[in-house]
Amino acid sequence: MPDIACVNGRFGPVAEAVVSIEDRGFQFGDGVYEVIRTYRGKPFAIDEHFSRFERSAQALQLSLGHTKDQWMSWVREGLRLSRFPETKIYLQVTRGQAPRDHPFPASLAPTTVLTFRELHSLDSTIRQAGVQAITLDDIRWGRCDIKSVNLLANILARQRAKEAGAFEAILVRDGLVTEGSVSNVMVVRNGVIETAPEGHRILSGVTRALVLELARKEGLPVVETYVSRKDLSTASEVFLTGTTVEVLPVVHIDGHAIGAGVPGPLSRLLFRRWEALIA
Ligand code: PMP
Repeated sequence: MPDIACVNGRFGPVAEAVVSIEDRGFQFGDGVYEVIRTYRGKPFAIDEHFSRFERSAQALQLSLGHTKDQWMSWVREGLRLSRFPETKIYLQVTRGQAPRDHPFPASLAPTTVLTFRELHSLDSTIRQAGVQAITLDDIRWGRCDIKSVNLLANILARQRAKEAGAFEAILVRDGLVTEGSVSNVMVVRNGVIETAPEGHRILSGVTRALVLELARKEGLPVVETYVSRKDLSTASEVFLTGTTVEVLPVVHIDGHAIGAGVPGPLSRLLFRRWEALIA
């Protein structure tokens, strides 16, 4: 089955899908997106993702162009056509097509794109071993809560991580850990789970919120506060959360072992609870 795209309501293979070079998504990165995955063929936490899609668009005075019902019916149709065991669904909207000019025309039909690609879950041996991360200065703009298609700083950070043989780049602004290039970051110190608070400096992860809820249900202390880069070295555990990484332990940061250098008990417990949640 080929990867499926839906551009302005028209379905076809991704390889044949096109948008204009005058599209403001191409010219300016003037658009927002969401990534949703399926579990057992069903989109997971789609309402939460769609709410964030709406919030991102609204923050940019951008219209999603269609009702939620219309987007949901495109999602259903894409899944019906693509028929992968598990699917990674992208929703994307840009401000639309217009002659290149920074200010945007008052009325412009947004460009809407969905793609449906096969999702390959992270190898379980990787999760069992834990991953490496590096720290990097967070050079992103001041509205990281908006899931903008403009991902330059994120792609540069992930590339640096890859070149260093690491899985993720943990971003640090003014000495404080914000999040990863593609994930939220949780740190365990003295038995307390600490993670950056919601606000303009992080993307409010759907997985982050669900994992914090699981932790609180478990009676684990959670504090939404910034952890300094320095304090990472005193952490007993660090783990990442995100749609594709789920709950993923980090066992080395900048070459230094976290705790015993193996996944710790809280991340393992929370991943088990996560598995129960998605089942
Ligand atoms: N932060 C960033 C920068 C991300 O790209 C992602 C992945 N979308 C996340 C956090 C995690 O968000 P979610 O749990 O909603 O996938």
